[in-house]
Parts: sequence; structure tokens; C-alpha cells
Amino acid sequence: MALAKISHHGAVNGVTGSCHELHIDSNNSILIDCGLFQGAETSPSGSHHDQMAIDFPLKAVQALIVTHVHIDHVGRIPYLLAAGFDGPIFCSQATAILLPDVLEDAVKIGFTKNRHLISKFIQHIKAMLVPLDYGQKTSIELKNTQHKLAIKLKPAGHILGSAYVECEILQSETDSKTLAQTQTQRKQKIVFSGDLGAPYAPLLPAPKSPYSCDQLVIESTYGDKIHANRRHRQAHLKKIIERAVKNRGVVLIPAFSIGRTQELLYELENIIALNSRTLLKKGKSIIENPWEEIEIIVDSPLANEFTEKYRQLSDFWDAEAQKRVREGRHPLDFSQLITINEHSTHMDTVQYLQKTARPAIVISASGMCTSGRIVNYLKALLGDERTDILFTGYQAQGTPGRDIQKHGKGGYVFFDDSEPSGRSKRKKYTINANIHTLSGYSAHADQTNLLNFVKRMRHKPKQIRLIHGDDEARQALQGKFKEAYPEIDVMMPAKENIK
Ligand SMILES: [Zn+2]
Repeated sequence: MALAKISHHGAVNGVTGSCHELHIDSNNSILIDCGLFQGAETSPSGSHHDQMAIDFPLKAVQALIVTHVHIDHVGRIPYLLAAGFDGPIFCSQATAILLPDVLEDAVKIGFTKNRHLISKFIQHIKAMLVPLDYGQKTSIELKNTQHKLAIKLKPAGHILGSAYVECEILQSETDSKTLAQTQTQRKQKIVFSGDLGAPYAPLLPAPKSPYSCDQLVIESTYGDKIHANRRHRQAHLKKIIERAVKNRGVVLIPAFSIGRTQELLYELENIIALNSRTLLKKGKSIIENPWEEIEIIVDSPLANEFTEKYRQLSDFWDAEAQKRVREGRHPLDFSQLITINEHSTHMDTVQYLQKTARPAIVISASGMCTSGRIVNYLKALLGDERTDILFTGYQAQGTPGRDIQKHGKGGYVFFDDSEPSGRSKRKKYTINANIHTLSGYSAHADQTNLLNFVKRMRHKPKQIRLIHGDDEARQALQGKFKEAYPEIDVMMPAKENIK
């Protein structure tokens, strides 16, 4: 039996712009995610429009399924609507709560600052959303066909609300050769992984593999890496903070506003709580405790809004996090935490930290240092050798984050500086800060986790399509899958443009 046709409109030779189309027949298809391209994956022409355009026909598209609210999975939704899509948008309950805010932010940056237009757009989006419980089977309405399609969302453990998607196509075929006109039905199951979390990620329960499928479209961001274990990365994080306390420097952590920021807060609260407890046991007073002195600054209105939402959605937290709450702890709301929203306070804080020696941890977006407030901190503090820069997430090729990581201390990075005339000019910044990478906080499954996702399926797929990874990562994972399952067709699809 022929496998279902799948087209990929992004995230094929990199990790951004996720958008995949599952074709049921010539009249019907669905989209899984519709994300923005970032870094080197933006169009070669570099034009702003090309980066986000919908370059495929939408006539057959009956619905959009959103796996999670990261911008590289949802950022092209405003363009999708502008291109004429008006079908339902299926997502998890938590995603339905988070998505309007993410898109509001995206529209403010990319489209318009007109509040009336933005609120009209958001109302429109809210009306299109169809929130589903995890595991709830839902039929999707198709046009002019005998075939049927149902989907199910399962927890992906990546960020709050994240899901992988199980699609079940029921194909009805009339056998015209027999006079009896008998109908045969064929079932096909296709799984789209979205982004998968690591099993020991803070806050969220680990994803469980599907029972079976015919085709699996799976991410491969860390297809060539094995993460440090949790204890090891906690120890590493603690060491970096201790250094900051001692030399009175700033630890800068560029982070996605959604997911990574809240995970880091959760881990920092734990490090502070455990170390304060140890010091108290040794008979030291709270005044002698450096862990009480350090300030943790989250400088991002979007991140702060999401931390608040994460607190409200504690029903979706894992058992460990629930236990801490029962113990009277506040994993995402502790006394050392300072939130900054106003732009003027942000600018004051950058200046203040540059001038005064005060140990602080600053978490700010964007995660790959392409834009946002983190850029101002980097410009001010990259040259200071007391500064530590800590990467916890994936840095795509062509982003300043990747350059800082690659060149390291003694190297350089370019940022745009705006001149009084309003024009911007590329300026070289020397890196005197210490650069660290903590891969364990990536919120993505590593190679072992990705292999286990398939290993733990009762019935293995006939085909695995590797997406959402750089070439090296995809090739490494392809090799591993082929070695373990020679009978499976493991392929690296190319981007398809059907005009
Ligand atoms: Zn993601």
C-alpha cells in the first residue's frame, strides 16, 4: 500500500520554519505547524517578505494543527491567514491559552503597532482555535471525499502545552472491477513529533511513544548529541553562579521566553533552595549566604507573562514540581526573582549592571541573540571579563548566538548599531566574557531519546522522515536508525514548493 504523501514547507535543512503538509487526496490536506524562519535559514535574497511568505497553495488545506507555541512553529500563522486560510486551528488546551499572546507579540514586531488591528486579529485567531485534551480523538472535516481523517494530540514534554500529533487516515476505495461495487477500507497512521522534550526536563512529564504508525516525521535537532545528565548540568550551572557571586559579575542567559526561561527559573530556585539549606545546616546565618544576595532578573515582558501563565497552569506540571509546591516552595516565584517589563527600566538596568559590580543573573530573549533586549546586555557586557554568557538552547547557523559560541573568549561578534541618523551600522564587539554551553537544558530530546521514541513503539513505522535538524545531526541520526532498523526507509526530505 502506498504511503501517504507529505510535503515539507520548512525545517528540512535546518531547525526553523517548521511547516508540514499531510495530503489525504487532491482535495484535502492538513498543515502541521506554520513557523517562522530564523538565522541563516531565511531566504537567500534576504527580503523580509520572502522569509515568511506562504509559498504553497492553500486550496486543499482544511485545518492547521499546532504542536506548540514556539515562534519557529507558529510565527507564519498571520501570513497564513493573510493568504486566505480560514479553517480550524487544533491545539492542546494549554497551547490555546498561550498562542494568542505569542501571536500578538509576533504581529507587533512584524506587522503593525495599531492596537485596534491587533486586537481584531487576536479575536479572529481565538475564534479559529479548537482546544483538545491530550488523547482526545477528533475528526477533521474533509471536502468531496469518501476518506476520513482523525487526529489525536499526545504530550511531547517540550514546553507547556506541547504535543505530538497522531493522524489516522481511513481510505475508502470502491472496487469498480467487481459488479458488486465492494468498498475496502484502509487505515494509515502518520505521526508528527513536533519538538520532543528530554525525559528529565524540569517541570514537564516525559513524552511516551505512540503504539504504532506507518510513517513518522521526527525532529532531529540534537540527532548527533547526547545531553549531560541533570545532576551534572545542575552542578555546572551552580559553579558558574558561584563564580559570578565571587567576582561580582553578571551571568547572561539568552533564552526563549517560553519554556526555557521557566525551566531555568525552576532549576535556579532549586539550586538556591538546596544551597541555602546546606549553609543553614552548617550554622551560617542568612546574611552570610551568597545565594540570598544574587538577583535573578527576567528582562522580557513576554517571558514574564508566560511565567505567570506557567504558574496558573500548574495542573500540567510533573510530579516533582507538584511535590515542591506541596512542600511550600514556589518554583517560579521566589524572593530573588526580579521581573522587568518597561523598556526604560530595561535600559536603566543595562547601564546599572555595566557600571556597578553586582552579581546578577539576567535571563532575556531572544534565545539566539538575533534581536530583543539580550542584544543590549551583550553589547554592554561582552567586553567585561567578569561576565559569563551561558547558552542553554540551540543556536542556529548564522545567528549572533552561534557566532559567540563559535568564536568564544578573545573572539568577536557583529551587531547592528543604530546611529543618530536612524540608520543602522554593523559593529564588531570583542568577546572578553566567558562562554559556556549547557546542552542539558535544551528542552529537546537528544540522540538516545530520539532513538528510544521509535524503540518503544510496539509496531515500528515503514518510513521515518528526519526533519528539523542541521545536516550533520540528521545524517548522524539517519545512520543510527538505519543500523537499528535496516527494514525502515529512513529519509531526509527536501523542501517542496508546489506552485
Ligand atoms: Zn520548540
